[in-house]
Amino acid sequence: MLVVMQEGAAETQIQQVIDRLVVMGFTVHRSTGSTHTLLGGVGPVDDFEPGDFEVMSGVKECHRIVSPYKLANKSFRPQGTIVEVKGVRIGGPEVIVIGGPCSVENSDNIEACAEIVAKAGGRGLRGGAFKPRTSPYSFQGLGEEGLKMMRRAAERHNLIVVSEVMDRSQISMMAEYVDVFQLGARNMQNYNLLRELGNVRKPVLLKRGIAGTIEELLLSAEYIMSGGNYDVILCERGIRTYETATRNTMDISAIPVVKALSHLPIMADPSHGTGRRDKVLPMARAAVAAGADGVLVEVHPDPDHALSDGAQTLKPEQYATMMDQIRAIAIAVDRFIQPAK
Ligand code: PEP
Ligand code: MN
Repeated sequence: MLVVMQEGAAETQIQQVIDRLVVMGFTVHRSTGSTHTLLGGVGPVDDFEPGDFEVMSGVKECHRIVSPYKLANKSFRPQGTIVEVKGVRIGGPEVIVIGGPCSVENSDNIEACAEIVAKAGGRGLRGGAFKPRTSPYSFQGLGEEGLKMMRRAAERHNLIVVSEVMDRSQISMMAEYVDVFQLGARNMQNYNLLRELGNVRKPVLLKRGIAGTIEELLLSAEYIMSGGNYDVILCERGIRTYETATRNTMDISAIPVVKALSHLPIMADPSHGTGRRDKVLPMARAAVAAGADGVLVEVHPDPDHALSDGAQTLKPEQYATMMDQIRAIAIAVDRFIQPAK
């Protein structure tokens, strides 16, 4: 349930509502907007009357949230969420571009990638150090060494670091190097991992599973948020359909749908969404036009020799062109993208 306090409600009034919710068996999550405090009560409690709360002093209104996700629901933070990482604000007017190789390969390569990304106006460096590969014989990533290389390259170019966590046991080690944990499509329903990421105090980029519905994606976000980590960035990265012309089917419509259902920012990954580098630019343009808060893209100085996902990885000049194009589109939808350096 959601209790909306009156504008300027006193702390004692807020506390009385919290106490009552707790006595009833709810866990209380507090969200402070620009004018009102919102109290989200979550838990397996059904027998309450919103009217009982509406007569309490300082309360403006109380609603039952009928959707299965409560904290990820738009009503919990109608003003929207901005996830801030080292001055990079995801979910605000700036459309954030995060680029880099599929996998961290070696220090020279990640340095070259960071330079390409930053020069054209990107804000974050992506790269897998732990790779979820379909075949156990494919390159599995450099692990902690790769993260060290990535951190150094990102710092030189003033980029935030985004890398995938595959297992709970990797979280504390990775926290030293990454600014944002990426939760990959294959793990969208790994509930133990989601719960553990609810306990960390770093943002999570949560990718949609290949067979995940939008409701399931939002419920996965709810797992993280129910642990107290509200800094979740959703990511549409294509879903599996009967279509074989592309690696996945990029669901651009998920962007406005999520925007209407949730306050969380949503990014788009046209690299995994299409699997083909010649289709990445049009889908990046479409994603920004549809209201995406950011674009996550694979780029490499020599994609034909990349250790993973080369076919969908942009060449440096394609990345620069994409940036110019989506910069123009961002302006048309009242957003902006950093200028090239
Ligand atoms: C990746 O970002 O390289 C990756 C493996 O992504 P996904 O989980 O979307 O397949
Ligand atoms: Mn990849």
